[in-house]
Amino acid sequence: MKTRFGEYGGMYIPETLMNACLELSEAYEHFKNDAGFRGELEYLLNEYASRPSRLYYAGNMTESLKGAKIYLKREDLNHTGAHKINNAIGQVLLAKKMGKKRVIAETGAGQHGVATATAAALLGLECEVFMGRLDMERQALNVYRMELLGAKVHAVNEGTASLKDAVSETFREWTKRISDTHYVIGSVMGPHPFPTMVRDFQAVISAEIKDQILRREARLPDAVIACVGGGSNAIGAFYHFLEDRSVRLIGCEAAGRGIDSGDTAATIATGREGIFHGMKSIFCQDGRGQIAPVYSISAGLDYPGIGPEHAYLAKTGRAEYVPVTDEEAVRAFEYLSRTEGIIPAIESAHAVAYAMKLAPSMRRDQVIVVNISGRGDKDTAAIARYRGRNIYE
Ligand SMILES: *Cc1c(COP(=O)(O)O)cnc(C)c1O
Repeated sequence: MKTRFGEYGGMYIPETLMNACLELSEAYEHFKNDAGFRGELEYLLNEYASRPSRLYYAGNMTESLKGAKIYLKREDLNHTGAHKINNAIGQVLLAKKMGKKRVIAETGAGQHGVATATAAALLGLECEVFMGRLDMERQALNVYRMELLGAKVHAVNEGTASLKDAVSETFREWTKRISDTHYVIGSVMGPHPFPTMVRDFQAVISAEIKDQILRREARLPDAVIACVGGGSNAIGAFYHFLEDRSVRLIGCEAAGRGIDSGDTAATIATGREGIFHGMKSIFCQDGRGQIAPVYSISAGLDYPGIGPEHAYLAKTGRAEYVPVTDEEAVRAFEYLSRTEGIIPAIESAHAVAYAMKLAPSMRRDQVIVVNISGRGDKDTAAIARYRGRNIYE
């Protein structure tokens, strides 16, 4: 298996973790072609997580924007409300096949922690989640949810006590106990084989989109748009279109208060090459090359890096990456709710915002697919607060 995407990716890890990643890489190579594993995964994705997700023709949105036809890929309808369950079930099932008894995971806002705790409850593995102390305070409901699902949640106090520190702490924990433990990484990041493996688990999204749009429109879409944190829902939505050069692939990064404001998480727009969390990729850095603090209204997009395959797709020009501000995302959040009766996750609203800009410049016979990575119930109180209304959570 290739360990890099062009110059990006790789395995920048200490020897103990190298052994764990090599063991994982071998197991993954074996099971991804194993009919039993594939059958079991497909069964769980369909019957438990509710796949395939719908590709919904957004007629009201299309009429209101007066341009390209817009379809919404409804990952928000999956069990636990986002695309993250695709990866969590895949990795926890793999860990079980490898004979592991315990999974560990990092989480930022708690979405990936909840998905991993869910898959662990389903498949009967122990689960421990590492979460920044600040995030635990901000997302108390998700902490309780993980506990209900049988997981133990550990507070991380290091650094800025948020997502990047939780990732570092989970790697440390894995180093201490590799033999019976698998680290379920939440996005297309970290050392090989994680970026490839997580992409493969999320690629079900574009496999379905392709099949669904060909049946509905008898043609490929002109553009596929997705939000990018680490990049897992985006690469999942892009993957089966990579060879179809006529399809524009557009990743929407969280610009926060603007890419020149200093309060941003737009990695491609503002970052530089570096090595962090086991991979070579693009990262937001300060003048000394230290990882810079990042900001976005969306907790799911405030990681200071991007998966190595996206760094490669950006460099080669196969995919485009555009910054979307908090204000634009909030307006799109409100717009989709009003126009289609669908409240998207604030992460997904970044992709909706760009579709709102792009569609009017396109012809009526052209087609855009927007990946709605998750549902917005978790965000409603925060958006109300952004609009100056205090709602008790
Ligand atoms: C976590 C999350 C994201 C960001 O993660 P990616 O790996 O970039 O997909 C986007 N949308 C939702 C709903 C999320 O929960």
